[in-house]
Formats: sequence, C-alpha cells, structure tokens
Amino acid sequence: MVVVARRGVERLRAGHPWIYRSDVHAVEAAPGALVEMQTERGRPLGWALWSSTSQIALRAVGADLDPGDEAGWLAARLTAAVAYRETLDLDASAWRVVHAEADRLPGLVIDRYGDPSGVYLVVQALCQGMDRRLGLIVDWLQASLAPRGILARHDVKTRALEALDTGVAVLAGEVPDVVHVREGAFTLPTSLRTGQKTGLFLDQRENHAAAARYGRGRALDAFTYHGGFALALAGRAESVLALDSSTAAVNATRLHAAANQLTNVEVREANVFDELRELDVARERFDTLVLDPPAFARTRGALDRAVAGYKEINLRALKLLRPGGHLLTFSCSFHIDDVTLLEIVRAAASDAGAMVVVVEKRMQSRDHPVLVGVPETSYLKGLVLRRVA
Ligand code: SAH
Repeated sequence: MVVVARRGVERLRAGHPWIYRSDVHAVEAAPGALVEMQTERGRPLGWALWSSTSQIALRAVGADLDPGDEAGWLAARLTAAVAYRETLDLDASAWRVVHAEADRLPGLVIDRYGDPSGVYLVVQALCQGMDRRLGLIVDWLQASLAPRGILARHDVKTRALEALDTGVAVLAGEVPDVVHVREGAFTLPTSLRTGQKTGLFLDQRENHAAAARYGRGRALDAFTYHGGFALALAGRAESVLALDSSTAAVNATRLHAAANQLTNVEVREANVFDELRELDVARERFDTLVLDPPAFARTRGALDRAVAGYKEINLRALKLLRPGGHLLTFSCSFHIDDVTLLEIVRAAASDAGAMVVVVEKRMQSRDHPVLVGVPETSYLKGLVLRRVA
C-alpha cells in the first residue's frame, strides 16, 4: 500500500502513469512489488509497480487486475499488445510487440525479429517490477509466440538507475549471431546482440517506406546506421551516398546494399557535420536528403546545444538541396517537440536562403504507439520538406 500526494494524484488523473518519489508519502513494499495506490484520504487509485531506487517510484498498471494472479494480468496485457500489432498489416518480419507504457506494461520492451528459421524476441525489462516478473513474461512468450530464442538486451543505463544488473543474455532457446530480417522488399542481416537498440531502428520502418517515394536523382542519407533510408531511396534515385561515423554501421550498410543487389549506394565513414560542409565547399548538390541523427537532447539541460546542432545540420542540408528537391529531417529527442522542430527548420531555411514547404509530418512507426498524456512516448518527429526556391 502506498499513499500518493496530491500532485501525483493529479498526474495520474491527467493520464500519466509515473509517480515521482517526492510525491509518495508512505510506503511499505519490496523492490519491484505490485502495490495498491491510495489518495491521502484513502481513495483507491489502482495498482502500480514499486521501484526502490529510481526517481520514478511508481509506474501505474491500472485498476483492472487481480493482484493475486500475476501471470493473469501480465497475460492479458501481452495478449492485447500482440493483437494490436496483428491489426497493423506490417510489411516486415520485425516489429515492436510491446512498447512499455503505451501497452500498459511500463518499463517493458519486446521486439520481434522474424528470420526464415523462425522468430527471435529481444526483451528489455527496464524497471524492477518488470525485472522481477521476467520469468512469467518469458513463460508467456514461449507458450504464445513459440520463438526459437529470447535475448535480453539489458546493456542499458536505465537498468543501473533501478539497481539492476546490465548485460546481454540468452533467456531461452538459442539466438544466432545474425538473423535475416525482412523490411519491405529488403533483407537485412542483423545482429540482435550488438546492434543499436535491439538490432534495428524499428521505429523508422514506416518512414523508410515513406522515403522511397521521394528518391530521385542524387540522394544523400546522413546518419544511415544500417542503411534503412539509403536502401529505400536507392530504388528510384540514380545514386545514394550514405554517411555514418561508425565503422560497424558503415560495414553493415555495405553488406545490406550488397545483400539486396543495390549497386548505386556508396557508403562513406564520416562525421556528418564535417562531410556536409565539405560537400558544400565542393559545390556538390543533391535532390533528396535524409537527416536522422541520434538524440542530441537526452536531457532538458542539453536542449540549447541540441537545438544548435539540429539547426546546423538542417542548414547545411538545405544548402546542398537543389530547388525542387526534398529534405526528410528527423529528431528522436522527446525534448524537441513539433513546434521546436519546425522553428529549427524555419531558422535553417532562413539562413540558407531557401524557401521550403512542409509536405508531410512523420512520427514513429505505428507499432510504437504514443500514449496520450505521456510526452515521453512521443519522441520521434519528422518533416518532409520540399525546397521550392
Ligand atoms: N537512420 C537510421 C538510424 C540512425 S541512428 C535508420 O533509419 O535506421 C544514428 C546514427 O548516427 C548511428 O548509426 C550513429 O553511428 C550515427 N552518428 C552519430 N553521430 C554521428 C556523426 N556526427 N556523424 C555521422 N554519424 C553519426
């Protein structure tokens, strides 16, 4: 039983499932325990997972569960998460099965990677409550999804905040070093053990597909990682230049281009900030550009520097863009909201002497749904811009 202070109650009622430690009055619970929340007056507020160390002390899981049947409530939410993805008609063999708070399974991420040999699941338990229930979750996944292997990608900082061990471990079955994932028409040999996130940026899948229709003439994919945008653009563009500063990413993109018989993709290991400047100095011009940088603003404090970074690359990209061409620009920092991204683009266009129109607004793929009331779940924003003059 925990008593939640008024500010916490207001947050809950507004639709946010996190209660901070400073908004918890009294508590008697073990790390990761399922606890009943109450107002100061003793009114019930439903159930939550307790963390003994994180600033996010409670993560609400709802009122509609039987606390004596842990396997039951987990199964109900997992079943609903799987069923939702089945409605999406995804043109891929890999997708996010569970997107934490948005699936009422706070702190739990499960990604599915389909290979011709079978299905592999990558799990991240990011709070004590989910870590404690990992055995039940793995049992359900094995019984319901029959994967060939389940991997824990627990090599993430969030686990340290929860005083949980970090590392990568096979939880069930076997996980090969490389799985052959399909995204649209492309096959992507992927390492679930060492790839960023859980292997691929599944949240960009639908944006890769959307980008394909803008591929034209000479294209540039900056921050390519494993070539998601580069491959998509290569179908219609004459040539694609893909940039990444990581040797592993460059090698993976080369492998992916070759595995898909694409001969018009050139991959260059480079710092995007420097390379865009050099391309401009060399008077190179492009018809389609993609900017998909890592999160520059991981904290609110880093926001000013991040905005400057985003502006810099957007300015450089717009200078390289021929009139009539398209710039697809993304930010995956949740601190950068829609309004800020548009303002960054406005300032960049103004400095570049470019007139641009917004052709599309983009967000993360539908298997990563945004929970209304929880801005943290709306992290990926994108704009498709056309340079008019
Ligand atoms: N566009 C990719 C995801 C990009 S993730 C996709 O759709 O799958 C961001 C990538 O940027 C990472 O691969 C990282 O290695 C790379 N990166 C980070 N900083 C960079 C820099 N300054 N220059 C070039 N690449 C950078």
